[in-house]
Amino acid sequence: MTLNNLKFQTTYLSLDSEFYDMTDPTPLDDPYLISFNPKVAKLIDLDGDSGDDPHFVALLNGTFIPEGTRPFSMCYAGHQFGHYVPRLGDGRAINLGSINGWHLQTKGSGETRYSRTSDGRAAVPSSIREYLMSEAMHHLGIPTTRALGIIGSQTKILRNQIERGAIVMRMSPSWVRFGTFEYFYYFKEYDKLKSLTDYVITESYPHLQNDEDRYFKFFCEVVERTAKLIAQWQGLGFCHGVMNTDNMSIAGLTIDYGPYAMLDDYDYGFVCNKTDRIGRYSYGEQPNVSYWNLTMLAKALSPIIDKEKMQKKLDDYGNFIYPDAYIDIMCQKLGLVLRLDEDVELITELVGALQDAYVDYTLFFRTLSHYDGERMPLYDIAMNPVVIHNWLDLYDARLSKETPTQPERQNAMLNTNPKYVLKNYMLQEAITLAEHGNYSMVETLLHIASHPYDELPEFEHFANETPEEHKNICLSCSS
Ligand code: AMP
Ligand code: MG
Repeated sequence: MTLNNLKFQTTYLSLDSEFYDMTDPTPLDDPYLISFNPKVAKLIDLDGDSGDDPHFVALLNGTFIPEGTRPFSMCYAGHQFGHYVPRLGDGRAINLGSINGWHLQTKGSGETRYSRTSDGRAAVPSSIREYLMSEAMHHLGIPTTRALGIIGSQTKILRNQIERGAIVMRMSPSWVRFGTFEYFYYFKEYDKLKSLTDYVITESYPHLQNDEDRYFKFFCEVVERTAKLIAQWQGLGFCHGVMNTDNMSIAGLTIDYGPYAMLDDYDYGFVCNKTDRIGRYSYGEQPNVSYWNLTMLAKALSPIIDKEKMQKKLDDYGNFIYPDAYIDIMCQKLGLVLRLDEDVELITELVGALQDAYVDYTLFFRTLSHYDGERMPLYDIAMNPVVIHNWLDLYDARLSKETPTQPERQNAMLNTNPKYVLKNYMLQEAITLAEHGNYSMVETLLHIASHPYDELPEFEHFANETPEEHKNICLSCSS
């Protein structure tokens, strides 16, 4: 299908007008294409060469408004760093409508009713980061929003320095956030809270639509999806960086990529967000924060769902739903098929050893995926191999209880533990080149992001330990 033939639906607009504001985009000056992703285009039946059509840049820039689109911004609230902000909303995102269940949204399209004191714009660096990382997460099997393309422009925007405005076209099965529920709860608009819940059930939990106990079951499924998502983040070594409740997806997706990072050397306390001075959103805190955020969601849903039942589910989250999800992920990473009681100790000992070993998290698991009893390759990548040695004694003992053959285990692990992840220094390199008008590395990283488990000989260097001078890059929110 060509861009002219796209058929948009605007189901969100069936909700009360308080849920959104009809907002026209403000175009950027002299827009040009930075990248187009044909894999994502497929999801909305869009032709794979649509990036070559001048309408594509115009679509992202808001100067080509296809039939059926009715641009709007969504309203929400949220707890930011633990403090409630009653009115947030899409301050720089404009929704065009949905195709095949994917809601298309341009980020950086200018001021909206919810912009507060900001300019409604997005800079090239953060836009490239969102564009690439959402693709990487998808190919790593992590539920996430996607991105169809990105444009740059000559429009000047003020950040720490003068930047140029960019727009990313994001797509998601849902843009509803925990904070959308909080908005109506705190304004005591319980009818709207109910219609939002009905809307979200229809859209993201349709199997519950005719269930008599659907509201409670909906809450339970949000809890379960969130547990699975956060366990996946922890297993992968992904730090979101801004886990405010307005950045928590009600559909259990990774949304709103900001100052995120992949772990370099394993560090439980790693903080990737420069503005997060106390480490509220450190890597190791993410499971606790997700629990806290679910508690805030439960509070917002309390007018329509029994509080005690929700509290019981939250207790279960902490006691076994999240821990079980995490153990499951880690056992997969270790190539273990059986689930034995002793695995908790094996994993606890492992993360303790990793913390002390000074070893690249991704490289460790990829190297372990080739493990055949020869320990040297693992010692070689750690600054402190003694702790790895001690843990491998436990691992050897545990492996002896498994039935799959060594090649079977290695094969499973090589398809679980990525060779390539997008580390901040790689993204930074692509951004620096982009700032000089060279977008080739955006395409390179898009390719790498789409093949995380493959051997890509020409990009072997990106599978190495992060160069020392580039470890633990910490970015700020303002972008
Ligand atoms: P974030 O931390 O990026 O998820 O953003 C938090 C809130 O600030 C959301 O309501 C955003 O829409 C809004 N926001 C962030 N940057 C801008 C901007 N440049 N202009 C307007 N609103 C923004
Ligand atoms: Mg956000």
